[in-house]
Amino acid sequence: MSIASNLNTIKASLPENVTLVAVSKTKPVSDLMEAYESGQRIFGENKIQEMTDKWEEMPKDIQWHMIGHVQTNKVKFMAPFVNLIHGVDSLKLLQEINKQSLKNNRIIDCLLQIYIAEEESKFGLDENELNELLTSTEFKELKNIRILGLMGMATFTENQNQIKKEFTRLKSIFDSIQHRKDEQLQISKISMGMSGDYKLAIECGSTMVRIGSSIFGGR
Ligand SMILES: *Cc1c(COP(=O)(O)O)cnc(C)c1O
Repeated sequence: MSIASNLNTIKASLPENVTLVAVSKTKPVSDLMEAYESGQRIFGENKIQEMTDKWEEMPKDIQWHMIGHVQTNKVKFMAPFVNLIHGVDSLKLLQEINKQSLKNNRIIDCLLQIYIAEEESKFGLDENELNELLTSTEFKELKNIRILGLMGMATFTENQNQIKKEFTRLKSIFDSIQHRKDEQLQISKISMGMSGDYKLAIECGSTMVRIGSSIFGGR
């Protein structure tokens, strides 16, 4: 199957309110261009250097999403162009994004990553840390970032019940912060679901799916 036909099949299966992030990490620009030419404009990468290289080379109407874990000292490289940072999991990182955003005269949109999996290796905040962050005075001072919602990754398992439980938990945390009114909060997006579990994620309320291998093939 070609990248274009994979994309079309997936897009046809998504409800209208669900955004598709085409996860292109490790793939060559030629593959991304094939997706671009069939209409895809949102790409997700997990390494800042690789995303920056692709941004330089590719058309400027692409929206670049950083979906990987972000090291504070690398924020400056993507600050001029990144469209959405999915994996924000600390005040310290938000402060750095705010600083670099200000330098670039921008407001950078972010999602806060919530830890929902039963795996040591996944990053993210727990519910208490999330609430502490959102109510802190330091957070309220950050005028050059905007929080659009939450992101989470389920446990890597075949157990659909467990995945469903984790996605449902993320949705309920999302619902619990939706009423918050702050200048830098516009809670409307939940980024959850990858190639193996995006249909389940959508059933559980996802509004943004991050799909790589089902579009571009295995890595
Ligand atoms: C790689 C990656 C994806 C896409 O995974 P696939 O299984 O290839 O669809 C989604 N989200 C994150 C955070 C990733 O690192």
